[in-house]
Amino acid sequence: MIPNGQAKSKPSTHATANGNVGAVLENGHANGSSSNGKAKDEASKHQTLGHKSLLKSDALYQYLLETSVYPREPASLRGLRELTAKHPWNIMTTSPDEGQFLSLLVKIMNAKNTIEIGVFTGYSLLSTALALPEDGKIIAMDIDRSNYDLGFPFLQEAGVDHKIDFREGPALATLDELVQNDKNHGFFDFIFIDADKNNYLNYHERVMQLVKIGGIIGYDNTLWNGAVVASDDEPMRKYVRFYKDFVKELNKVLAADPRIEISHISISDGITLCRRIV
Ligand code: SAM
Ligand code: CA
Repeated sequence: MIPNGQAKSKPSTHATANGNVGAVLENGHANGSSSNGKAKDEASKHQTLGHKSLLKSDALYQYLLETSVYPREPASLRGLRELTAKHPWNIMTTSPDEGQFLSLLVKIMNAKNTIEIGVFTGYSLLSTALALPEDGKIIAMDIDRSNYDLGFPFLQEAGVDHKIDFREGPALATLDELVQNDKNHGFFDFIFIDADKNNYLNYHERVMQLVKIGGIIGYDNTLWNGAVVASDDEPMRKYVRFYKDFVKELNKVLAADPRIEISHISISDGITLCRRIV
């Protein structure tokens, strides 16, 4: 069983200097660990696959967070981030810079009705919920409710829990239910997909019916820890290897889909925005 549909086997984790989490690679070496001083440590982090940020260095990423993200991060999001950092699967959370990006995107679009597939403890959910108007709604789907419940007090603290309609279960079945109702066709302004990568192409055909023309679908983790350009013999975490080809196939299909315009953005682990045009 793949825990939460994300990893073939749960990687053991350790915190890095910037509060991100590294994971043990298949070869047993901890990502980002080195005994030969800080400089070499920094360099080695970026030579091994699996580092969360795709920026040139941890220092640059830290600069970005401390300059532009943390000072503006709402208290509820900070609290949720701190809680999630203690979770054994904290590597799954949306990074704060990406949360800020999603928030701005939702506001620029004047989005009101949205869907999120893959909630975990809710960092991207809360980022989006805070950005929606008072009468905005998010249908939030996850196969497992327990992590959503952990983060729920922060949705309440932020006063946005009334915007969330949480649906527990496999997202494909929930999407199929939505698609069966004609009223949902073209109803949604924004759909964020951050769950089991092997199903992204199945989600694509369904969410294309649900998003309005001019609306946006965001596929998360589309640079997949940099593994999309790795050769098969490079060391990488087991779950990274497991999903690598699914992500590559998705990227190929999205690039060739004439029904959408796309932008493949290298924030965090990569997000591909797709604007439905027909
Ligand atoms: N967006 C989240 C955040 O900001 O913390 C992170 C989501 S995490 C990367 C992926 C989530 O997808 C997990 O909570 C997992 O339970 C959920 N998931 C995996 N397979 C799923 C499926 N088939 N249907 C619905 N949810 C699924
Ligand atoms: Ca993600």
